[in-house]
Amino acid sequence: MRAFGTAILLLASFGIPACAAEPDWPAVERHAMDLFRRYVRIQSVNPPADTRETAKLLQAEFAKAGLEPKLYEAGSAIHTNLVVRLPGRDRTAKPLLLLNHMDVVPVDPKQWKEAPFGAEEKDGFIWGRGTLDMKSLAIQQLTALILLKQLGITPPRDIVFLSTCDEESDGVYGAGWMIANHWDELNPEYVLDEGGIGSKDLYADGKTVFGVSVGDKQVFWLKVRATGTSGHASQPIPNNANDILLRAIEKAREFPASSKTNPIVQTMKDSIGTFAQNKFMNAIQQNTISLTTLRSGVGDPPKVNVIPSIAEATLDCRLLPGQNAEEFLSEIKARVNDSRVTFERLSSPSDPGPSRTDTPLYQAVRAAILKEHPDATVMPLIIPYGTDTQKFRKRGVVGYGIAPMIIDAATLATMHSDSEHIPVEEFRAGLHIYFDVLRSQF
Ligand SMILES: [Zn+2]
Repeated sequence: MRAFGTAILLLASFGIPACAAEPDWPAVERHAMDLFRRYVRIQSVNPPADTRETAKLLQAEFAKAGLEPKLYEAGSAIHTNLVVRLPGRDRTAKPLLLLNHMDVVPVDPKQWKEAPFGAEEKDGFIWGRGTLDMKSLAIQQLTALILLKQLGITPPRDIVFLSTCDEESDGVYGAGWMIANHWDELNPEYVLDEGGIGSKDLYADGKTVFGVSVGDKQVFWLKVRATGTSGHASQPIPNNANDILLRAIEKAREFPASSKTNPIVQTMKDSIGTFAQNKFMNAIQQNTISLTTLRSGVGDPPKVNVIPSIAEATLDCRLLPGQNAEEFLSEIKARVNDSRVTFERLSSPSDPGPSRTDTPLYQAVRAAILKEHPDATVMPLIIPYGTDTQKFRKRGVVGYGIAPMIIDAATLATMHSDSEHIPVEEFRAGLHIYFDVLRSQF
């Protein structure tokens, strides 16, 4: 009796009449927004990536809906991951995995005008760390999954929801740990994660475009070291390690014109025509190199009148899917062509290649977006940063990244900044889109 009473109450709290096929959207939206704000208020900052409280909040929400979430402590009790499964019609089919992370990057409270963990509503936005990255999307995923359960909609295959603890530090205890230790619980056909988004100005000026990420650029870090001759700075010499390093970096960053366009970039061009001019679109069209550190000098603090014999720099290179890292490095070495300069690999990328788009899930995502935004273009996308999806692509899983919201480039740039915020209306629209995806045949 008690269970029955609880179920009725919860159906009411989610706004679902007992026999309806459609949710009571105003009630669902209110509940989801309230949950989202409570989620943002939990300070799951990484480091240390203590996700016990966030996991508890999500666990309680799933349990109230009659699902059975499981918590996993990875390494230590603070690193908590959460898994919950909704059975589908075909139990032999591999599941769809809804992937999200509970951790957020740190804040400098002095720089924030709003309370960084206040989740205040102001000017049509919710303000706070994690509103964009990615507590909003996690609540959209959770809400859609719970709606299926509440409405008695059985998906074509199992849906597994995974919230991880440390995506912001490369997923060592989160996605990486779950893959290494509990692969049998996951083993998905598809992953839906963060990555792509909708925008009216990010991809092409004045066009509503949703980019569904199908591949992450490869992270390739290099240390460059120049060796020269030390001496008294009063008498300049050609063999100054600093000069050698600067010339080498300049040469390294001279990009040869690429002979062929990346196929995903070509598909994007075919879809939307002229790209918008911004750093995001620049980064996803080509391999890039950012000079991130410079280190040289003798003494601490380094002496101004001493020419050092060693100078070092690090380069954060991001390679397009399909680009071979060793070939990229050989090209740089050939351009630099200086025996006094050495390159050390600080990371070794392995490229799983982009995910294909000829899948029922991609079609379901596209159809759900177009239902809400009939004038939109939906296209595949490469993203310049890394996500946990890449760990699954390396295991042969088809992975897409999409937050189903229209966010302008300026708002998107507040991610990880001291004014992170999200439009209330888009959070609401995303709830509808995600629900439509999950009730499709994928
Ligand atoms: Zn994220």
